[in-house]
Amino acid sequence: MAVQAQIAIVGSGPAGFYTAEALLRAGLDCSIGLYERLPAPYGLVRYGVAPDHPKLKSVTAVFDRIAADPRIRYCGGVEVGRDVTLAELEAHHHAVVLACGSPIGRQLGVTGETLDGVMSSATFVGWYNAHPDDAAVQPQLDHPTAAVIGMGNVAMDVCRLLCTDVGNLAGHDAAPAALAALAGSRVREVHLIARGAPGAAKCTVKELRELGALPGLAVRFAREAAVFEAGEPTDLVSEWRALAARPDPPYIERTLHVHFYSAPVAFEGAGRLAALRLRDSSGAATTERVIQCGLAVTCIGYRGRPPAGVPLDDRSGVVPNAGGRVRATRAGSRAGLYVVGWLKRGPTGVIGTNRADAVETAACVMEDLSGSAIEPRAGSAAIEALLRARAVRPIDFAAWQQLDRWERERGLACGAARVKVSGLPEAYAVLDAAASTPA
Ligand code: NAP
Repeated sequence: MAVQAQIAIVGSGPAGFYTAEALLRAGLDCSIGLYERLPAPYGLVRYGVAPDHPKLKSVTAVFDRIAADPRIRYCGGVEVGRDVTLAELEAHHHAVVLACGSPIGRQLGVTGETLDGVMSSATFVGWYNAHPDDAAVQPQLDHPTAAVIGMGNVAMDVCRLLCTDVGNLAGHDAAPAALAALAGSRVREVHLIARGAPGAAKCTVKELRELGALPGLAVRFAREAAVFEAGEPTDLVSEWRALAARPDPPYIERTLHVHFYSAPVAFEGAGRLAALRLRDSSGAATTERVIQCGLAVTCIGYRGRPPAGVPLDDRSGVVPNAGGRVRATRAGSRAGLYVVGWLKRGPTGVIGTNRADAVETAACVMEDLSGSAIEPRAGSAAIEALLRARAVRPIDFAAWQQLDRWERERGLACGAARVKVSGLPEAYAVLDAAASTPA
């Protein structure tokens, strides 16, 4: 009888689910342990996509169908590196696929970045999306001016959240604490800062248009000429031009100030952020400008944080790999260890990009498994025994679905799509309460 392949996937975001799907679709005789450190699955779909983009979250239905396959054992609330080591996963599986994303905001590396009031998009987005790691975050919304650094789609999300009427966020799944804080926000001026030209911004036209369409939003350009002089009339440049040429709304509630060719030099303040210093990055001027502000959100990309012992390229923030095979050294790969998603290719692309990426990594796994005869391994059964011995309580998919119902019911009470469970202690309390309630 052929030996069943035992595979562990670490991380249940899009890359993790799509890898499981690719392995199952390829007809590999396998059992897959899907490990997730948080109380809930779905990774960036749940904790990264903005609350006012609910359609993008409907992809969780696809992930639920994948999770329903009996060959998958989902283990939530289990952190590799804390509850079980990577070496243990490797010892009990034929292949371990790291799909743990890029959760760390990149640093600008300028002075003052640790001041109170300066935070990365990883933290700010986690805050409004009720990420358990960011439950204690309190962005400084008591100053009329905020700065958003970077001009990708995350910067668009952050600007939109700062500039929108909080009513537009209600009814979805934003953290209640974030909704309350945004309702009392004094931010009226948001400075959006890019070091490059209008046409080089990383945001997409759709997201820029959505930001520009916010009611009551006026848009100003620090150097309007840059917009009209911008070289090729791409769709993005046309969108900037349309924004620059349009009249102000009849009643201005907030103003978005757009700065091109502007690179942060320093965050200034005594303990707390008071100002952002910018230099001209076009080469045309040497003068510096200062924006007085109480909040600065750096939206300049992310870095991976793989389990201990896994190499991470310091410059790119990804795990060195060849098509998904983790490279232990320049010369060769580390047998049986793979990577997928943002941890493999960096923080780029949309949710669907992870599908093709996962197919590539899954193909490496299958090619390596078919290359030689494999010895039987115990797989997730062995890991679950280890977890039991350590009094770690995994949240299986049925338990997650119970939490999901609880979140939705809790949302009903306050007109939201859901109110997310705050962390593992609350998740266990909800599950225990349900277990002790007579049916
Ligand atoms: P991104 O698209 O790579 O944008 C990063 C921004 O940071 C760029 O404007 C970049 O400027 C700037 N930057 C990087 N290093 C900098 C530095 N040292 N100083 C100043 N600026 C710096 O990344 P992202 O916005 O984090 O988005 C990540 C991925 O998620 C993207 O693929 C994005 O499209 C996707 N996403 C999609 C949606 C959506 O579809 N609605 C929403 C959110 C995110 P340069 O161009 O000058 O390098």
